[in-house]
Amino acid sequence: MSVATQSKPKGALNTVNTLRVYNTLSKTKEPLETVRPGNVGIYLCGPTVYKEAHIGHMVGPVIFDAIKRYLTYCGYDVTWVVNITDIDDKIIEQSRQRNLPMAQIAEEMTQDYLKNLASFGVDQIDHMPRATETMGEIVAFIQDLIDKGFAYESAGDVFFDVTRDSDYGKLSNRSADSQQGEGGGAAAKKRSPGDFALWKSAKAGEPSWESPWGAGRPGWHIECSAMSRNLLGETFDIHGGGLDLVFPHHENEIAQSECRHGKPMAKYWMHNGLMRASTAAGKVGGRGDRDGEEQATTDTKISRSKGAGGLASLVERQGGERLRFFLLRTHYRSTIVFSEEAVAEAGAGLDTFYRFFERYERLTGERFYDLQPIARRSEGEIDAGDDPLLGQVNEHRDSFLSKMDDDFNTGAAMSDLFELVRTLNKHAQTIEDAGSPNADQLVTFTRGVLTLRELSAIFGLFRQPPATSAKAESELAGKLLDLLVELRTFARSKKDFAMADKIRDGLTSLGVTLEDRKDGTQWRIE
Ligand SMILES: [Zn+2]
Repeated sequence: MSVATQSKPKGALNTVNTLRVYNTLSKTKEPLETVRPGNVGIYLCGPTVYKEAHIGHMVGPVIFDAIKRYLTYCGYDVTWVVNITDIDDKIIEQSRQRNLPMAQIAEEMTQDYLKNLASFGVDQIDHMPRATETMGEIVAFIQDLIDKGFAYESAGDVFFDVTRDSDYGKLSNRSADSQQGEGGGAAAKKRSPGDFALWKSAKAGEPSWESPWGAGRPGWHIECSAMSRNLLGETFDIHGGGLDLVFPHHENEIAQSECRHGKPMAKYWMHNGLMRASTAAGKVGGRGDRDGEEQATTDTKISRSKGAGGLASLVERQGGERLRFFLLRTHYRSTIVFSEEAVAEAGAGLDTFYRFFERYERLTGERFYDLQPIARRSEGEIDAGDDPLLGQVNEHRDSFLSKMDDDFNTGAAMSDLFELVRTLNKHAQTIEDAGSPNADQLVTFTRGVLTLRELSAIFGLFRQPPATSAKAESELAGKLLDLLVELRTFARSKKDFAMADKIRDGLTSLGVTLEDRKDGTQWRIE
């Protein structure tokens, strides 16, 4: 399935080679040198679709959405893959509990995930492969590992033999011995405790697929090795995921892919920090289904903090843009501390921009949202000459770009956006103070605003006017009407009928009808 919504850059563009990326494999920032010049392939581990997403599940997608936008802006042709794990113990468990077919639960939760991606403005994903649709490739991958002596079949299960992989543990700096066993009956089938399942034989009543080893289903790790190879090749550029996936998931992906192909799986391993609820030590991000009790506790906390209705209701209250902005304020490798208060505070920051856009429209008669963002870095540089405003705009832009070049530091780059809007506001003030706008001032002003458009588009912000402010306005209107009704009732109780009538007539002229009932007065907008 492809959900690409943006066209690819045309032709060969000059890519920027000042970009540095922190690689978990080397524990250092390295210059970005791609497998194929001008192209970047990104694989991000996606969700296991067994229950509704929470805010922590949106961290990786939002960050990589901004990273893809930035790389595209820098001239790369980017292909971004996010997989859907739609076969897993957790989904089988839900299917039992809810007495529904596994496929139905997976489909419901996939739709929930896609809806949330859309709410957060994540629309840069090119491919979202599902494990159940990749079964042929998964089986072929496992067979090849067996043929090459890296895996073995044991009573209908297939395990990866970690003793055959001398590199095992290179990402996490952990040895095979420290890997947790699968528990249950699997331990008895393994040659050594660190071996992990590539294929699990089906138990009675479980969904299963045919294979050379009998009916069963794939292990989680092998799905990602097969899907990434399928869509991005044997060696691709960036493999991403939450920090909690380093071990065992990514370590095992490396073992499978590199033993099969005899070459590196990914050049850069990027891991985003996880999310914590501000009042709790628990973790909110990442692959909860692999973390047992710790995650169960945290999920309870986060469910409580976000109230009934889950992520959809959080989006309804806060608005997708505000949540996206909140997630991008932090460097992707840092922990994000979540609370609705912190999101509201981020919202106050966003209001600075919204107010500026209104000011821009007042001064120029043009909507900020109608400005076409400059799509390429090479086209955004301003020839400022001796113009002081444009000189400052260039400085803010350079600073923004240098922070993004330094391992995609969106949090630090965000402060340059604030500096830029402050500079533009000062200029707007000068124009306003002068009375009638001077044409030259408006031209340079608009050019500066175009840079704000360019840089905020990299974060995927301000694509359309905020729906939340319209909602807030209508809420406010409702409260004001309630207040007027209350004042009229008060006037009547004091026998001030002239005032009561004045209020009612005034409201009627605004198209608001009042209806006096036994239980009070209701207003209705005609
Ligand atoms: Zn994965």
